Amino acid sequence: MANGRLRIKDISRPGDDPLVFMNMSELMPVPNLGEEPSIEPTPQKFIDKYEMSLDGHCSIGIPKPKTKEEEDHLVRRFLSGLEKLFNSEESWTFQQALRLSFDYCVKCQTCSEACHAYLASGRQEIYRPTYRAEILRRIWKKYFTPEGKLLGRFVGADVDVNWRTVTRLAELGHRCTLCRRCAQRCPMAVDNALIARELRKLFSQELGIAPMEILEKGCVQHLRVGSSTGLNPPGMLDTVAFMEEDIGDRIGKKVKIPIDKKGADILLIHNAGEFLSWPENPEAFAILFEAAGISWTLSSEPVAYDAVNYGLWNDDVELARVAARHTLAAKKLGCKKVMIGECGHATKAYVVIADRVLTGDLSSSEIQRESCLPLLWEIIRSGAIKFDPSRNNFPVTLHDPCNMVRAMGIVKPQRLALKAIAPQFREMTPNSVYNYCCGGGSGYAIIQSFNFPQWRNKAGARMKMHQTLQAFKNELDPNKVPFKYLCAPCSNCKGTIRDAITHYGLWDKYNLNYGGLVELMVNSMVDIDRPFIEYEDFH
Ligand code: SF4
Ligand code: SF4
Repeated sequence: MANGRLRIKDISRPGDDPLVFMNMSELMPVPNLGEEPSIEPTPQKFIDKYEMSLDGHCSIGIPKPKTKEEEDHLVRRFLSGLEKLFNSEESWTFQQALRLSFDYCVKCQTCSEACHAYLASGRQEIYRPTYRAEILRRIWKKYFTPEGKLLGRFVGADVDVNWRTVTRLAELGHRCTLCRRCAQRCPMAVDNALIARELRKLFSQELGIAPMEILEKGCVQHLRVGSSTGLNPPGMLDTVAFMEEDIGDRIGKKVKIPIDKKGADILLIHNAGEFLSWPENPEAFAILFEAAGISWTLSSEPVAYDAVNYGLWNDDVELARVAARHTLAAKKLGCKKVMIGECGHATKAYVVIADRVLTGDLSSSEIQRESCLPLLWEIIRSGAIKFDPSRNNFPVTLHDPCNMVRAMGIVKPQRLALKAIAPQFREMTPNSVYNYCCGGGSGYAIIQSFNFPQWRNKAGARMKMHQTLQAFKNELDPNKVPFKYLCAPCSNCKGTIRDAITHYGLWDKYNLNYGGLVELMVNSMVDIDRPFIEYEDFH
């Protein structure tokens, strides 16, 4: 579909026709990508039932209203939620930063050139960091300011709120991975990611509208069952037993995984997705921590064996509940600190953002909160374990998870570690705090519903695949260089990267694989006499 010039007020346009539709010929070119799947048209069965009129894609599946009452309900709740976002008593967490970001944009568009989704999509207007922000500004002006109510479009208050505006905005809140690269570049310190995040919060907290994987199967299931994966405490204990057996099979040695060990220094919490999709990652942590003589434990307490905290993306209340349960579990065990495994969003949620809600005897002066990356480098630096880098003698590059690197400034430990254990390590460009998002930030890695994976692969992850292929451009031929490793020390990033490599066929074309940092560390441990990485296996 050819896309005409899109205006801000088109967000309120009636009808099922999408405002834009990604077009193969307009997508950002990626050298060496080769043939790729074409963009599938929106299935009619989705159009008939759900809101698909933003860009023909859908992450939430909002049923179209059937009556005028349902339409009015959407509009009323949306406007009331928007008003609450700017009320310091209703939304104290980020209200001030939101207000400043709302007021200080000078429309220079520096941010657009920083946004991977905008660039990868072929500069579709709708994915500009400013597009959703400007819609909200105009709505605010029209419905909540005297001049907007009086003079309307003459003062730029020209966006009508009807049910289409509301449902399209709900989806538009989920076309930004909240990577904050745009905020980093803005000369006015405007944070368009925060605006997108608060828009999502409005929908989640006020209307109960959010992708099922993030709210219902994410936060709600996490608090109800014990983990966002659905893993309950007996399932968790079975998983630990399985991992102990698997470690034995992999390295020919027994390693006991401590669980609920009272008085351990560290309570280690993994993203529970690791247990199900990449058990070799928590297994590698167990091997390293035992070999380094670290006092640590996992917990089998519900919520505390899953570091996931999707409240970070949508919901302040859910964020606070999950963070509190993590700290309470550490207190119960008498641990000194909680360490988050290789998961970016979980690290930021717990180590940084939870500062706003964990106070008093839950604060960090009682129980410290840390990323695992500095300790992993310390294990190498201190000589606690001997490593043989020649065992990792294949090309390795590093993806910087936005939440740990750009947002938290954890830049050096993972690079120092890779330089020490991977002789063919090379950076991708750009890197460190200037990295590009994997494309699955803000929970997109786990959204598999409707046709959202197509958007994630084409617009979300395209830039990361571009960077990766550039990093390996001289070694792509699998006959000459049979194995390449994209190191991504984050569970959500790995999920996105796995799906993107599969979508673009890069394992089949180039033997491009991916994994965490700890797997590479164990792979090069002198005391282990066989490879830990499975070179023939992509999963
Ligand atoms: S870079 Fe900042 S000031 Fe410029 S358009 Fe983007 S948000 Fe506005
Ligand atoms: S946060 Fe990232 S994805 Fe979202 S608008 Fe900014 S640069 Fe684009």
